[in-house]
Amino acid sequence: MKTVLIFPPQWSPLQPYLSIPSLSAYLEMHGYSVVQKDLNIESYDIFLSPEHILSMKQKIKERFELLDNKERLSVKEQEKFVAFFMGMSKASRIHECISEAMTLIKNEDNFYNINDYNKSMNTINEALSITSLAYFPTNLSLFSFTIDNFDYSISELFKATIDEEINPYIQIYKDNLLKPIVNLKPDLVCISIIGTEQIIPGLTIARLLKLETDSHINIGGSIFSRLVDVLLSRKELFTTFFDSVITLEGEKPLLELVKHIENKKDLKSVPNLIFLDGESVCKTDISRPERIDNLPTPSFEGFPLDKYLSPLLVLPYLSSRGCYFNKCAFCDHSYIYGNRYDPRDIKKVVDDLNKLTNKYGCHHFTFSDECISPSRFDKLSDELINTKSTIFANADIRFEKGFTSELCNKIYNSGFRVFYIGMESANNRVLSFMNKGIDKDSILNIISNSSSAGIWNHVFYFLGFPTETETEAEETLDILISKKDQIHSSGGSTFLLGKDSKVAHNPKKYSVKNIKIDQKKDLELWYNYDIDVGLSNEMAQRLLSSFKEQIEKDNCDYCWSSIPREHLLIYLSRYRVSDLKDMIKIPYIKQDPRIYYNDYLNDNAILYMHKHLAVHTINFDITELINNKFNSPIVSELTNVVYNEKSKKIFKINNSAKKVIDLLDNVNTVGDVINKIAINYGISLKEARIKCNRLFTELLNNDIVGIANSTGSIPRLDPTFGRST
Ligand code: SF4
Repeated sequence: MKTVLIFPPQWSPLQPYLSIPSLSAYLEMHGYSVVQKDLNIESYDIFLSPEHILSMKQKIKERFELLDNKERLSVKEQEKFVAFFMGMSKASRIHECISEAMTLIKNEDNFYNINDYNKSMNTINEALSITSLAYFPTNLSLFSFTIDNFDYSISELFKATIDEEINPYIQIYKDNLLKPIVNLKPDLVCISIIGTEQIIPGLTIARLLKLETDSHINIGGSIFSRLVDVLLSRKELFTTFFDSVITLEGEKPLLELVKHIENKKDLKSVPNLIFLDGESVCKTDISRPERIDNLPTPSFEGFPLDKYLSPLLVLPYLSSRGCYFNKCAFCDHSYIYGNRYDPRDIKKVVDDLNKLTNKYGCHHFTFSDECISPSRFDKLSDELINTKSTIFANADIRFEKGFTSELCNKIYNSGFRVFYIGMESANNRVLSFMNKGIDKDSILNIISNSSSAGIWNHVFYFLGFPTETETEAEETLDILISKKDQIHSSGGSTFLLGKDSKVAHNPKKYSVKNIKIDQKKDLELWYNYDIDVGLSNEMAQRLLSSFKEQIEKDNCDYCWSSIPREHLLIYLSRYRVSDLKDMIKIPYIKQDPRIYYNDYLNDNAILYMHKHLAVHTINFDITELINNKFNSPIVSELTNVVYNEKSKKIFKINNSAKKVIDLLDNVNTVGDVINKIAINYGISLKEARIKCNRLFTELLNNDIVGIANSTGSIPRLDPTFGRST
């Protein structure tokens, strides 16, 4: 019996995800061997390779030329025209530096240098934006994957999983990742889909496998567990993408599925299964999940652990299933666990961590528990300290009064460095209305206790819970500013009405009305709604955006809010909280933009074009097009432009200027260029000198050219200066 477990893209490539390591360890405990494939990290490895970027450049070029050869560009096409134009230059630059960025992010010495770190992360993000452009209007980043016109309908899902124009995964599956799975000739392939970003890439590989193999294709994970009603009514999903779906917790049902397929038994006795039985979709009974204490330590065998984008291995760990509180009105996290809470015995938890440390040399763990209570943390810390554990970890907690100074100190001493805490609001009425079970005093106490112990506090909040007023929302934002020495980073959003939340189940109680369930958007898990009292979602969004803009401007260390969990933990396993804050405190010095070059320019000087700039002759006036803000169609007009890829500025130049720039070939001196222009245009040397010098000064001031053989030291320009579009 051959079983392959797949974790499909798109998910964070900084560490492996826990779902298939838990399932594979469970199957192995019952005597079944498994092959694990993290297609997510394999995909990123391809997207971030120089070869792929080069092929994306070619793809962007082809798409650009198709538009450039048109007589006229529609409003929609104009946006693409600009994006492709800029993308071509960017691809050339990123192609040259992506390997270095990938090496730096995985190298400890460079990783801890915040400038190297930021530079590498920027390059990696830019590299992914090149793939996005090649598949416009697709957006791929380290933490998300979206296709603009995918509206969560099944009809769009059918299109997106075979559309090679917009789906970047089809090509890499066909070229690289599909064949090794097909060659294994598996009897069963299980694909774990736990996030909405995985729906298209996950079902794309499912569809290809269904075409290329005779394997039974099964989908597991939380997303389709929430879509049982859709699965039961859409038979075509089973004929195109998969043979069955396991809902809720997967261990017992998967083991049964393996046994049933091995023994060719009727699938009707596999629990938690939805499958096509003849002509109709059938659903089996839900079984009691396996107790967490009966599960083995997760197994990461077969994972390419050196490919994750971190200098040190960071593994996820789950010490409990479900939430011990489980009362917050906006939350539906416990749905997948049948609203139960199942904590693992503390000794087993510490034993697991030690095993993972010994087996994989891993000392950094991100706890994936919904939240760990004070009493459980007390026992966990004692056990870690008593067993002389060497781990560093982060975990989610609630603002519970039990997190005293004494306990926070103990937690720090046991290796925990970061708390992720759902504050949601700092207003007592709103906290009580959403049934959060905490109040402002406990928030203030706990951030004080944990930060004094040396623990980094990352606080989550959201604006626009039904009935929340602007004044109440501002109370939340105020605390982030006034307590910024104790709230070290934060993540803010606006309220989302989740399909399985208590608010959605009892909207009247929360003054929510007209929940807009669009029947066409079968796969949608969040709904729009109307509200009579308090902030609308748009108002909350506006308030949040202006707050974030302001806080970013006023606080240079705000960037720590966007550093991924895995990387923050690695930093905090070496540095104290205050060290990290100090790393970013670089004063901003405004430069005088205009520089006069007469002292540096003489006839022997050689001007050269900067590497990040290129001259293009294209069929549309791109500067006009941008100024127009893509408002009306535009007709073709031959245009010369210089594009500065670093500053993203586009300079329109006339034919004479282009002729001069073409002469700046690293060989011609300023004197040579002036001579050639005088001859070419039949003008005097004096006139040519005046015209050329005027142009050279413009080019130098706009950082388009540099002086190769200057004896003086040329001052750097403020890159924001310049006349441009
Ligand atoms: S928000 Fe957190 S504490 Fe509240 S129910 Fe959800 S998981 Fe539990």
